[in-house]
Amino acid sequence: MDRTGDRGNNDLPLGECPDCQATVPRENLLIRYVPREGWPRILAECSECETAVSPE
Ligand SMILES: [Zn+2]
Repeated sequence: MDRTGDRGNNDLPLGECPDCQATVPRENLLIRYVPREGWPRILAECSECETAVSPE
């Protein structure tokens, strides 16, 4: 497949909730931040838990 442009990634979910394994869609993104050390992290609201989680 040649369609590997930037736009393709925008439809991917953020990941899965670490608590209930529900898929967390991009529209649930709350904040994105980069700690002084380590990988960039994101916080998103899990629609199952109704709380902010770090999707994995
Ligand atoms: Zn959850």
